[in-house]
Parts: sequence; structure tokens; C-alpha cells
Amino acid sequence: MSDSYGPTPVGDGNEEPLVRVRNLTKHFDTGHSLLDRLFGDSTAPVRAVDGISFDIREGETLGLVGESGCGKSTAGETILQLLEPTDGTVEYDGETLVGRDDLFSFRRRAGVVFQDPFSSLDPRMTVGRSVRQPLDIHGWPWPDDDVETTAEVTADGIEVDVTVADDIHRVDGVDPVDGVVTAHVTVRRESQTGTSGEVPSETTVPHGDEEGYVTVAGEPVAVGVTEPLELRVSGGDSLEVEVSVGRSDGTLRRERAASLMDRVGLSADQFDRYPNEFSGGQRQRVSIARSLALNPEFLVLDEPTSALDVSVQAQVLNLLAELQDEFDLTYLFISHDLSVIRHICDRVAVMYLGEIVEIAPTEELFENPQHPYTEALLESVPRASTAEQSRDVDPLAGDVPSPRDPPSGCRFRTRCPKIIPPAGTELSQPAYRAVMGVRGRIERRDISLGELRESAETTEDVVSELFGRLLQDDLELPATERRHLEDAFESLADGEWDEAAEILRERHESVCETHHPDGERAACHLNGLPDGIDEGTVDRDERR
Ligand code: SF4
Repeated sequence: MSDSYGPTPVGDGNEEPLVRVRNLTKHFDTGHSLLDRLFGDSTAPVRAVDGISFDIREGETLGLVGESGCGKSTAGETILQLLEPTDGTVEYDGETLVGRDDLFSFRRRAGVVFQDPFSSLDPRMTVGRSVRQPLDIHGWPWPDDDVETTAEVTADGIEVDVTVADDIHRVDGVDPVDGVVTAHVTVRRESQTGTSGEVPSETTVPHGDEEGYVTVAGEPVAVGVTEPLELRVSGGDSLEVEVSVGRSDGTLRRERAASLMDRVGLSADQFDRYPNEFSGGQRQRVSIARSLALNPEFLVLDEPTSALDVSVQAQVLNLLAELQDEFDLTYLFISHDLSVIRHICDRVAVMYLGEIVEIAPTEELFENPQHPYTEALLESVPRASTAEQSRDVDPLAGDVPSPRDPPSGCRFRTRCPKIIPPAGTELSQPAYRAVMGVRGRIERRDISLGELRESAETTEDVVSELFGRLLQDDLELPATERRHLEDAFESLADGEWDEAAEILRERHESVCETHHPDGERAACHLNGLPDGIDEGTVDRDERR
């Protein structure tokens, strides 16, 4: 198992989480073609998810946020075992999922809604059929021998003998309470029968019909049931009532699919239409209805509103919030959109390059972010006010490094505006970042040295040109630091890339690149340096 990195998972110590993720890892070996293997050429795997840990408590919404490509969707799919983890564990309701052959029962309890409702729905299948499909696959409705059945009879002084079938719990909406389902049968005398013609001595009252009429001891009575069940009623000297489901599994599935479509804001007459006849918002409602078909407890919502118009986004978010209350759902809500995350989540986990860097209750995270990446994400949210719109600093400048070869130590260090300089450096924070940027380019050999050497006559010219090209003119560099840079640039002028990088590394190596950060809430050395590491020259409060 890989080491556990990132913040300590939050838990109150007493409550068992519904989902427990520990050191979950998913690497993709994408570069090993036949030729690669033949010539022994190995490509590093893509470390999409790299040792993440968190809990999700029953009934809560945990947000998973980060830039595109940070691994959050892969994390969701790996938690659901749609992708096989490379390492780590996932427990659901106390049971381990990883390595289990039989996930059929787990599939009933957990579902997913993807970003693009068009590609997640089969274009050749009607939407009603799509919503119904999980019911067909899982053989719903499931009989349960442990459920008992009974009837509660409200009669108008009439003696009634009621028999209840033992499978009425299979009907959608007839739910057991403490292991017992109850059919509520009503009987009343009817002076005017409400029917035309003769009152029969026997009748069947299909579900959906409110009442049926029979004669008992010569008097007409009305008989009904409040649940969607069928009654067979016999009159004569006394009244006998049989309560049953009264329809096939196929009909029950169609009814459930139709009721779910109705619940998500679609109508039953759209049941037999195809996905291309719906708008994006309607298609996402179909996907949500489908995800609810098996009455799950846990849903992974993977950017469920990102592909929708802004006006529709709010409607779908509100629908998801209502459904959570109504069906006691627990959500893992994946999004790059911080305003959506703030609107719907109880806690938020921030992900960067395959790792969780901060996890906290939503308002705490938004009001007081503890990790520089979280701060930068919040800063990068577009602002309404004109003054703030005119910011010229991009808080998230620079490219995300390759997940095949993530930076050592803190993965955010190549973009972090607060990277910790080593003790004794005379560089200011901006100057330190600039020098680290230069070092990064040398290490990546990302400088057109050949062209530079051709145009310059002497080593001094090359060094001077490098200063001009790689560092801003107004950057303040103390004399000793300038001399180190000159040494490195002279090595570079001789084509000694490694030597140049080494000169800068020796002088400027940060704890952020030598030690992987950990922390209770945020994985950052600003919250506490590892044992044996000196504080940098920059005061902690100044850095914050
Ligand atoms: S550990 Fe260092 S590089 Fe990483 S976020 Fe904290 S200050 Fe920045």
C-alpha cells in the first residue's frame, strides 16, 4: 500500500462513515505499446489518483473540487469500483469493496450521475426504458421473506375478513415500517351506491380505482384501499376482502420509472421519447431518475451541472438538494465550480494533481482557506466588482505539471506563491519564486541555448542575455545571490545543464521540494515544518 498523504480524514470518532476511503490510488499504464515493451522502453504511469483518504458520513454532501485533470472524476469512478484501484481501500457501510468479486448488491446501493447526459444515455433507447433498465438488470422488485404484511381496517360497523398477500411490499411506495407493511382498507355503508345498475356480490377493484361496491346482507357497501394495490371483494352475508399486488413485475417497473420521471420534473407522456428529443437539462433529469431507480443510498455526482446553461444549473441543483432530503441520500459532489460547491456541499475536499491538499467544512474552507492552492482557487473565481475584475495577477499562473512525473515534495510547489525559501536565503519571496522558476526551466532544459550562444560572442554576453531573458529587470537580487546565478548561467553558457541546475539547487532547495507535507486539515508546510527543518527567513505571518 502507498503512503498516506494529505490531510487526516475528518471524523468525530463515534460515527461510522458510510464511505471510508484510505490511500486510494489509481495509476494508468497508458504508454506501454508493443514496441515499447519490445525495446524495453518504459513510460511512467499516469498517477491520476495518488493516495487519497477521506470519509463521507451518512446524509452529507462531500464536495471534491480541483482544476480539470486533477483526478477527481477518476477518484469518483474508483470509489464506485467502476475502475479497479491500483492500491488502497474503500469501505462502504463497514464492508470492503476493493477486490470483491460480487459487487451486485453494492451496485443497488450506490449510483452515479455523469457530466454529459447525452453520452450517458443510450440514443437508441427511449428515456423511459433507460430509467427502467437498472430495474430489469437487477430483477426489481425484490421479494423479501422477512417482511410481514397486515391490514388496518376502517369499517362502518361491518364485519370484514381481510387477507393480505405476502408480497405487497414489492409495490413502489408500499414501504415496510419495522419490517411490516400495512394495507389500509376502508369500508363504508352506501345508501346511494354511486353506481348505476345492480350492485354485484363480488368485484375486483384495480389499483388506481378508489372504491368498489358490493352488497352485504342486502345493503350496498363501498370498499377501497389507500395504497396502489388491488382488491378482490366478496359480499353476500358477510364481507371478505383479498389485498394483492395485482400486476406483473414489468408493469411495476414501468410504474416506478414513470413515477421517478414525474419526481424529477418530467411527465409520463415523455416515457417513450428518445434522448435527442430532450434539452440538456431534461436529459440530465432523466439521468438523475435513472440513478434513483434502485433506491440507492449513495450517489457520485460527477460535474452534474457543468454541461448545462446557467439558468438550468440552479434548477438541477435545487432538484438534487430536494431529492437528498426526500430519499436520505449521501452525495460525493465532484465539480471544478466553486460557487456550485459552496451552494450544495457540507464539506469540501480540494484535490491537486492526484492528491487531497485540504479538507474542511464548506464555510470554514471558503472563509479561511489553509492551503495556498485553495486560496489560489478561491482567488481565481471571477469577481462581480469592477475593481476586483481588474486584478492583473493570475493566482493560478503556470501549467499543472504532468501526472506522469509530479514534482517531488509538495506537488503544488512549482506554482505556489508561498513556497518556503531555505533558511539563510537573502532573496525576497518574489525573487525566490523567480529564481526557482529559472531553475525549473534549466532542469527541464526549456531554454533555447543554441540560438543564444550563436548570437552572443562571449560567455559574459550569454550570461547577460540570460539575465535579461529569464529575470525581470526590476527584480531585486542581493549581490551574493546574483553571483550564484552568474555561476549557474556560466555553466549553462558552456552547455552544462546539470551543473547549472545543481548550483541553484544547492543554494535554493526548499523544504517544499524535499519533504511531502501533511497536516490535519491542509497538507502544507506553512502549518508546521517537519522535524529538524529550520524555519525559512520569511516570517510565517508574512507568508500568509
Ligand atoms: S508546502 Fe510549500 S509549496 Fe506546498 S503549498 Fe505549502 S508553501 Fe506552497
